[in-house]
Amino acid sequence: MTLESFIKDRIRQLGPMTVAQYMALALTHPEHGYYMHHDPLGARGDFITAPEISQIFGEVIGAWLGAQWLAMGRPRTALVELGPGRGTLMADALRATRGVPGFHEAISVHLIEASPTLKQKQWNALAGKHPEISWHEDFSDIPEKALLLIANEFFDALPIRQYVHLQDGWHERMVTLDANGNLAFSIAADAGRVVERCEYGKEWMAMIARRMMQYGGAGLVIDYGYNGPPKNSRETLQAMRHHNYVDVLSGPGTADLTAHVDFHALAQAAREEGAAAYGPGTQGDFLKKLGAEPRTEKLCEKATPDQKIAMISGLRRLTSVDQMGELFKVLCIAHPQHPKPEGF
Ligand code: SAH
Repeated sequence: MTLESFIKDRIRQLGPMTVAQYMALALTHPEHGYYMHHDPLGARGDFITAPEISQIFGEVIGAWLGAQWLAMGRPRTALVELGPGRGTLMADALRATRGVPGFHEAISVHLIEASPTLKQKQWNALAGKHPEISWHEDFSDIPEKALLLIANEFFDALPIRQYVHLQDGWHERMVTLDANGNLAFSIAADAGRVVERCEYGKEWMAMIARRMMQYGGAGLVIDYGYNGPPKNSRETLQAMRHHNYVDVLSGPGTADLTAHVDFHALAQAAREEGAAAYGPGTQGDFLKKLGAEPRTEKLCEKATPDQKIAMISGLRRLTSVDQMGELFKVLCIAHPQHPKPEGF
């Protein structure tokens, strides 16, 4: 049975489902969910992410994490990554922090990952890079100590619900069946003003902030998204297959589904727990403030001409306003007594 026929059966039996229920099934259904059975990343996959574009990304984040750990007074720390993909960011960050005396000895590394395929890739990428690496399904079993956290393109994969403003008020947009028995939305996306809400995102953020309040810590959430109401009140839910946008309802489980992250809502969820939130600033500004440019120049000194070209174009892709530099945002959450972190 395909996931599409499974979803159709469910709608026939139980009625229309929320966009969040549809997204959760499409992404993480144990057998057919998009993330469960293949590696979506890279040129031959469906999309590419910052750590896969340039090692500078993970190195800069590593340097940031090392600096926060020093500012925290070098405690025993859980270094947690949400949705680590191929493990590239963590591998680059661990390499970049080898020079921070005592850091590797003080941390244990914790990867929160739903996908068995990606867990395997992470294991391969990180084998031998740190003596204490473990995998978790959710946040509650992360050991209770100071927290350093990183999440790149994790929150955009969490299910959202959509609400559309029609003449008679707000309606939740549902996934249902049309007269021909095909998957269809109950309301067209352009029928009125659309608002998206990500309860899962807020719950994750609240858990993280509570842990930081109790044990200290700091973290970064990096993703594409907006701060405050989205400018045009349109939906941001999108599906990607082989680097092209496709219909959200076509072939559930075979395309990546994401929605832009509501950074204001995340910062608010952290503040409600008493934590401090900085930003979101743009990814371009953050990387530049943390010295991504001189770091790239230094790497170029030892590189072949081809590697040089790749490194310079990678940096440009991560930082330019017309590429990932502005759409991608960086939010920092920290214990309120933690000194204001670099980059904000
Ligand atoms: N951070 C990586 C990968 C981003 S793709 C990078 O920048 O390259 C999203 C990642 O989040 C994948 O590893 C995916 O398997 C994971 N993921 C998505 N939803 C999840 C969930 N509900 N629980 C745990 N991991 C999840």
